[in-house]
Amino acid sequence: MDLNSLLHSLIPSFTSVGLLLSYFGYLAIFGSVLPGKIVPGATLSDGTRLHYRCNGLLSLTLLVLLLGGGVAVGFVSPTVCNLCCCGIMHFLVIVDRGLELLSATFIFCFVVTLLLCVAGSISHDKGSSLKPHVSGNWIHDWWFGIQLNPQFMGIDLKFFFVRAGMLGWLLINLSILAKSLQDSNLNRSMVLYQLYCTFYILDYFFYEEYMTSTWDIIAERLGFMLVFGDLLWIPFTFSIQGWWLLRNKVDLTTAAVVANCIVFLMGYRIFRGANRQKHVFKKNPKAPIWGKPPKVIGGKLLASGYWGIARHCNYLGDLLLALSFSLPCGISSPIPYFYPTYLLILLIWRERRDEARCAEKYKDIWAEYCKIVPWRILPYVY
Ligand code: NDP
Repeated sequence: MDLNSLLHSLIPSFTSVGLLLSYFGYLAIFGSVLPGKIVPGATLSDGTRLHYRCNGLLSLTLLVLLLGGGVAVGFVSPTVCNLCCCGIMHFLVIVDRGLELLSATFIFCFVVTLLLCVAGSISHDKGSSLKPHVSGNWIHDWWFGIQLNPQFMGIDLKFFFVRAGMLGWLLINLSILAKSLQDSNLNRSMVLYQLYCTFYILDYFFYEEYMTSTWDIIAERLGFMLVFGDLLWIPFTFSIQGWWLLRNKVDLTTAAVVANCIVFLMGYRIFRGANRQKHVFKKNPKAPIWGKPPKVIGGKLLASGYWGIARHCNYLGDLLLALSFSLPCGISSPIPYFYPTYLLILLIWRERRDEARCAEKYKDIWAEYCKIVPWRILPYVY
């Protein structure tokens, strides 16, 4: 593709803007009305709590059925295979208009970030700008304030954006799958990549309530980084391996497939196990961990199970999973390894920030925890 046609395909058409807005509209409306468990979020500094409707899995299932219903019907009854093609066509739109959707999402993110900044500076209490601080649902910075958990028409924007990003990633992957079916070049690598990512995304939505106690929701400010990260970065860069596999053929040996599966299963076990243990501990600090009473420091920090092996074992699990998503692409190119490399940098940086936050919040208890569990992410290495 020459530069001219590349630039041309980056200009969003009405169709791509319409697709994007319909997508957000669907998530906003169905996310608000579909039934789901109502989960209380972390307690804010003013003692209040936000509540989250965890119906991501239902919203996802309904959307995929609506878009791809034709595919299923087509497989069941070949006489209605027009519907089958129609289902595939719905997904193909994303691959065919990938660059336009990318630039439309970029513009959307830019506008949202700008609006958040304007809303923050208008509502900012200038009298409190002497020192950055958190008060209630607000983070007051030197020059402007920003809401820790901004709400729009009853929708929590942070929770909404990360849901849109994760579901967007699945839709892009399904679109890549539809393209490879259309081109008749579905192979082992593509199947493995699709299975791993689909499992990871479904699992994310199955345990969506765990998201309510993560750093992004409880501590991160919703600005440039989070908006672009959730809406643009997650769906478009996490799927790089899939795009790459559409254009490159890989011959995986059976041993490579087995090794790849082992990395995936290990990663999943550590990632989900660690996140679950923390979640269970926060709800009931006496709940057994690996069948034994938990070791608790200062009544607040868990030092058993994965949290007794490294202070962020969950990051290790996530990194192994990220690696397993790239291994189906073989080792002939560094491009598919962009995601695990990026995640490594992000999680090391995040671990440092979380460490600073916890050291300030838990003071001596945190210092004691660090003594008992000296490793940050990977025991004996880091
Ligand atoms: P954590 O889920 O590890 O949450 C950190 C918080 O947990 C701390 O701030 C503290 O909060 C609490 N905590 C820390 N140690 C303990 C302990 N020993 N006992 C009890 N509570 C403790 O981090 P994240 O929110 O960053 O990550 C959540 C998941 O999301 C991870 O698995 C991560 O890998 C994944 N992730 C994935 C990304 C991706 O792009 N794929 C990006 C970022 C995250 P408190 O004040 O509540 O005690």
